This record gives sequence, C-alpha cells and structure tokens, in this order.
Amino acid sequence: METYERLLAAITPATGPTRDVLDPATGERIGAARVDGTAELERAIGRARAAQPAWAELGDEERVATLNRVADAIERSGEALAELLSREQGKPLNGPNARFEVGACANWLRATAATPQPVEVVVDDGETYAELHYRPIGTVGVITPWNWPMMIAIWQIAPALRMGNTVVAKPSEYTTLSGLALAAVMNQELPEGVLEVVAGDGGLGAELVVHPGIGKIMFTGSTATGRRIMEASAGNLKRLTLELGGNDAGIVLPDVDASAIAEGLFWGAFINTGQTCAAMKRLYVHDDVYDAVCDALTEVASQMPMGPGLDEQNVLGPLQNRMQWEVVHRLVDAAKTSGARVLLGGTPDPEASGHFYPTTLVADIDDAHPLVQEEQFGPALPIIRYSDVEDAVRMANAVDVGLGASVWSGDRERAREIAARLEAGTVWINSHGGVHPGIPFGGVKQSGFGLEFGAEGLKAVAVPQVING
Ligand code: NAD
Repeated sequence: METYERLLAAITPATGPTRDVLDPATGERIGAARVDGTAELERAIGRARAAQPAWAELGDEERVATLNRVADAIERSGEALAELLSREQGKPLNGPNARFEVGACANWLRATAATPQPVEVVVDDGETYAELHYRPIGTVGVITPWNWPMMIAIWQIAPALRMGNTVVAKPSEYTTLSGLALAAVMNQELPEGVLEVVAGDGGLGAELVVHPGIGKIMFTGSTATGRRIMEASAGNLKRLTLELGGNDAGIVLPDVDASAIAEGLFWGAFINTGQTCAAMKRLYVHDDVYDAVCDALTEVASQMPMGPGLDEQNVLGPLQNRMQWEVVHRLVDAAKTSGARVLLGGTPDPEASGHFYPTTLVADIDDAHPLVQEEQFGPALPIIRYSDVEDAVRMANAVDVGLGASVWSGDRERAREIAARLEAGTVWINSHGGVHPGIPFGGVKQSGFGLEFGAEGLKAVAVPQVING
C-alpha cells in the first residue's frame, strides 16, 4: 500500500521546472508540480506511439486482465490517492467526494474491462455478409479539467486502453498532481509507454491537439476551449469527443412531496460543491410547492458541513481556485443587487482562509438573470418560480447548452413526457447527475458531442472497419 508521502515523492521531479501547488482550503503549499515543455511532449508522444503496436497485439483478453490489475492497484493506494486529491482539489474525503472519486476510478476500470467488445453483424441475408468491427485509433490524447481530475481521466483513459490505443494525458494545470499520481499508480501495472502524462497548461494542451502523432482527442472542459480545440484539430481532421460545459435545469412539478425530494435536489446541485459538469444549476419550481421546496432545501443545505477536505466531518469544500470563486461571487452579488431573495449563504466570510464560498440558495430570481443564464460552477443555486409547466420547459430549453436536466414528480409517466421535450443529453427523473459506467453519457447543443461509457464509449475510441464477405 502506497502512503501519501511516498506517492507525492514519486511524482515530484528532482530537476526541471516546477510550479508550487497550494491547498485551496488553507493556501498552504502542498508540493511542486512538473511543468513540461515541447521536448517532453514530443518524447511522451514518441514513447506512446512506440508502445502502441505491442499493446494492440497483446489481445483483448490480456488487456482486460491488465485493466483489472490496474483497478486493484488503485484500490491498494486508495487512501493515498484520496488524500492527495483532497489536498489539491479541495474536495472533502467524505461524502460524494475524494474517496468516492477514487473508488469510482476502480469501478469504472472494471466495468470498462467487462463491457463486451462491440462487434456487429450488419447484414446477413444469404447473399451478403458484413460485420462491423472496431479497431484501435493509435495514440489518443486525453485533456481533462480540474473538478473531477481522477474520475474524468479514467472515463477517457480506460476505454482508450481497452480498445488497444495508447494514451498521452494532460491533466488540468490546477490539478496536475492528481493526474500524475493516478498515472503513477496505474503505471505500476501497465507496460511502459502505454499511459504517458504531460504536465502543463492550455498551451501544452494546444500542442497535443495539433500533433500529427495523436489520432484522437478526448476532451472534457469548457465550451470555449472545446471550440478552440475543434478549430485547431481541423488541420489533420483529428477525431474528437467534446464533453463541454452545461447549465442543467431541474423542473419540479406541483405533485411532489418537498421534504422527500429535498436531499436529492441538494446533492443534484451541490455535489463536489457545485463544481460538476452535470450538476443542477437552475431549479424551476411550481408555484404550488415553491415555498415548501425552498424551506425543505434550505433545511437540508444548512446542515451540510463545509470546511477543509481532510476534516472527516465535512461534505462540502472550498472552490478549487480563485478564478471560480470570483465567478460565483460576481453572479451572486449581482443577484442580490437585482432584488432576488437569499435563502441561505450569499455572503462569503472575509476572514476565511482559502477559496470558501458558502452554500447559497437564491429564490425569487428572474430567469433572465446571469446567475440563471451562466454556468456558475459553484455552490450557488437559483430557484425560479413558474406556474405553467410549458413556461418551465421553454425556460429550461432556452440556453445554448444541453448536458443534463431533471424532472421531479410523483407521476413517472408525466415526468417522462416532459423529459422527452428537454434538450439535454441525459434527463434524470427524481434525481440529477448520477452516472453509470454502462449508460452512455454526452451532451447536445454547445455541451459538445460524442458519447462516453458502455459499448458506445468503446466505439468512441476506435475506428470502425467493415469486413464484407
Ligand atoms: P478548461 O476548458 O479551462 O480546461 C480544461 C482543460 O483544457 C485543461 O486541461 C486545460 O489546460 C486545457 N486547455 C485549455 N486551453 C486549451 C487549448 N487551447 N487546447 C487544448 N487544451 C486546452 O475547463 P475547466 O475550467 O478546467 O473545467 C470546467 C469546465 O469543464 C466547466 O465548463 C464544466 O462544465 C466542464 N466540464 C464538462 C464535463 C462533461 O462531461 N461534459 C465534465 C467536467 C467538466
């Protein structure tokens, strides 16, 4: 079993440029992250490309066995990984946070290893016989954000490796240590060169995107960066999966029991302290139950402890970085000025160390307000009142992104009717944001394109080949 100290030492370089990494809860220095340049990128891509033919030739059975051993390695080092993740990202050890994220990495690897290879007989009519197979692309570039730095990396790395590709991953510059530590543990079991990591900012990511040695980019991050990646990859028609930003709506119908759904609503919005792509970022509540839902949600939210991640009792943490804290602060301040009613939070403690922003619920806010229309990506939820469900559907669809959405009702059929009219890649009924390794996940509109997870996720990191005859 790896200790936190040994894990940190293993990813701290003896020479070369580094950058200090600070704990977002305290501002204390926790370590130094490598800063790679073009030369390191070239070497990493060279090693990954050199390793790819042997990895593909190893065969599916051996790759499956290897991925399962990688999952075991992650579990053996689970506590060390969770501690590092908590210190660098800020998320608490407990609740649906650091230990949960590391556990999900192992689960995802095993589920990806267990997914049947997608081979289809497409025509078999006595005259013609054709099968559709999925072959490795080569070397896949994986570019990830800072909110779920280990889990999102695994979402992309695991299927890419399963399909016989090698990977060059670039973690976010805000959570580089988490990306490096995860790869260090995975590389205890993977052959050399199969998983390479480069450490750097968007500039290094851009170099990865244009590199001719990379066959596909799996990108998770903001819509603005997704657009830049699409432009940059046009030169060599690089394949892309873009998992981008969201502004998920939840719609509460008048027939709900407010206290029964309050905890589900809370975690739908505040998982990872709101820093989640498919978190509920706008809540539309029918007039008949508006006050009851606001009261029940305030009651639940006010009992959820926020504080430094390593304190075992906390389930909410700081924002990961000042940039995101400023976004939340600006949007909530503007909402207060506009006359919206703050039910909880809304005033950060000026004495607080780190990037803490209090759990904030804002009621009686106009749908046109920036806190509703922009992605806040933090612990502040606007609650909008409606009286005609047609208006709620219209408002939910009136943004340019479409990652997730949810409908809350005691009447499943009614909820499903409304779900079908929402412009989102996933619509949950009576929950929000849960993902499953067997259920495809992806966005519509400006939330990107391409699917992850399950058989669809394996196809996304492969090239189709028809065998006709
Ligand atoms: P970001 O777009 O700023 O950065 C993401 C990654 O892209 C980082 O590794 C960054 O270094 C890299 N990058 C930046 N510029 C680049 C360029 N020109 N070329 C290549 N790479 C570049 O996003 P972020 O702030 O880290 O993450 C938050 C955003 O991610 C939110 O909008 C959130 O909704 C979204 N997100 C989406 C999903 C999803 O599955 N759809 C999941 C998590 C987060």
